[in-house]
Amino acid sequence: MSVATSPDSTSNAKSFDTNSDTAADGTPSSNWLVIGGGVMGLQVARDLIDRGQKVTIAEAAPTFGGLTSAWNLGDVVWDRFYHVTLLSDTKLRDLLTDLGLESQMDWVETKTGFYSGGQLISMSNTAEFLKFPPLNLIQKLRLGGTIFYASKIKNWRRLEKLSVEKWLRRWSGKGVFEKIWQPLLQAKLGEAYKQTSAAFIWAHTARMYKARRSGMKTEMFGYVPGGYATILDKWVGWLKDRGARTLTSSPARQVRKLESGEFEVDFGDGRIEKFDNVVSTIASPVIADTVPQLSEEEKKRHRGIRYLGVVCASMLMKKPISEYYVTNITDTWVPLTAVIEMSTIVNPDKQLGGNHLVYLPKYLPDDHEGLNESDEDYKEKCLSTLEKMYDHFSRDQVLDFKIARAKYVAALATIDYSTRLPDIVTSVPGFYALNSAHIVKGNLNVNETITLGEEKFTEEVWPDYQRRVVK
Ligand SMILES: Cc1cc2nc3c(=O)[nH]c(=O)nc-3n(C[C@H](O)[C@H](O)[C@H](O)COP(=O)(O)OP(=O)(O)OC[C@H]3O[C@@H](n4cnc5c(N)ncnc54)[C@H](O)[C@@H]3O)c2cc1C
Repeated sequence: MSVATSPDSTSNAKSFDTNSDTAADGTPSSNWLVIGGGVMGLQVARDLIDRGQKVTIAEAAPTFGGLTSAWNLGDVVWDRFYHVTLLSDTKLRDLLTDLGLESQMDWVETKTGFYSGGQLISMSNTAEFLKFPPLNLIQKLRLGGTIFYASKIKNWRRLEKLSVEKWLRRWSGKGVFEKIWQPLLQAKLGEAYKQTSAAFIWAHTARMYKARRSGMKTEMFGYVPGGYATILDKWVGWLKDRGARTLTSSPARQVRKLESGEFEVDFGDGRIEKFDNVVSTIASPVIADTVPQLSEEEKKRHRGIRYLGVVCASMLMKKPISEYYVTNITDTWVPLTAVIEMSTIVNPDKQLGGNHLVYLPKYLPDDHEGLNESDEDYKEKCLSTLEKMYDHFSRDQVLDFKIARAKYVAALATIDYSTRLPDIVTSVPGFYALNSAHIVKGNLNVNETITLGEEKFTEEVWPDYQRRVVK
């Protein structure tokens, strides 16, 4: 087995047990590179460590965590993108138990609002739902029935064949579709909603339905004190303690299989290292660009995946803006997907220095020019919108305002999406492409990402590796 050399990398590795050449189950141990230090990469690293493998994780950014990573807002350190955990996120909660964090979680009941017809309306329980002004009684029953029906559907493949518009029009009717679903879909997906399958809304409603303790009752959301910064710190520490080598500011620019059978990985700054196997967890179009030896068909499939990106402002405030965790927006003049008042969940006094935290996201397709809008323009757009939406809002309440962007957030669930996915076990022996684009039975979230990572690692990556190395 080859030994990775890294003259100028910041290796935190404990020395590997070089006398041990086999994993606990007798499978030979070799040198693995995991590309991408988001939760998928960390999960794959965890699975490899559990099987006695030698692991290096290379992350392009200066810190681990990807979309879950944190930054400073004033004196507060919190997630760049808003994150909550659901009671039903069992895999994530198991991980947090392993890291000793689950027992520290705060669980909070939340309220949901709608901004519709220029009004802020609470829609947090059955009574409020029945009063919801934009819809008449029949329309409310159809909307409630659609959500309930979606939560009961098991055969999601059937839904993948239908457009979300067709399916929602069928079950909710024209009025509900045009007043509620269409503006919400447009806010979340832009015009890409027209190519999106009904599996998208099925996954979304099923997750939100699970979050409620029963029926249309209140939702329970949780977080770890300190946010994802605490989780990542413990998780990366756990991996390092078990011998993982962790590299930050190390983008894998090119991965090439040599005649010797090893992989040569170019980090673009003069560092070239060798590994026996590589698992790439990064976005599919980037996988296609970094691995020239993939077949043309594989590259086509990776590049064919369309992603949703996001521009998301974090705003630290002296006062709260809203009593709702999420305010969904159906008025199409509002250039935001939603208003997220994080401090309805995260304790302002204990976690936010007595301040309040609001996120202002706008999701856009990965090729949309809005993803490159300047910070000044997006900020002005956000603040002038909030002035129109909330009488009590004024700019002098804003203590800090920062904008995060991500081009590749979630693969778009287009028609027949799952049939067009590239394989995880690729035509290049020892190179595996395992990323969140393989989530086909749910929407993108941390629980779904680590569940998929563990499942696909166990069912596809590890058996293929065993086949290759156990003669
Ligand atoms: C606005 C927003 C809100 C969200 N809210 C929630 C929520 O409430 N609850 C929840 O559970 N989930 C939520 N999520 C989803 C959650 O963040 C994702 O499910 C999860 O972070 C996906 O992890 P990943 O590892 O697949 O991808 P990423 O986090 O994108 O990780 C990929 C990593 O690869 C790195 N990388 C890219 N190219 C290279 C390269 N060439 N070499 C090395 N490294 C590279 C990137 O820097 C990144 O760190 C939210 C996401 C967003 C954007």
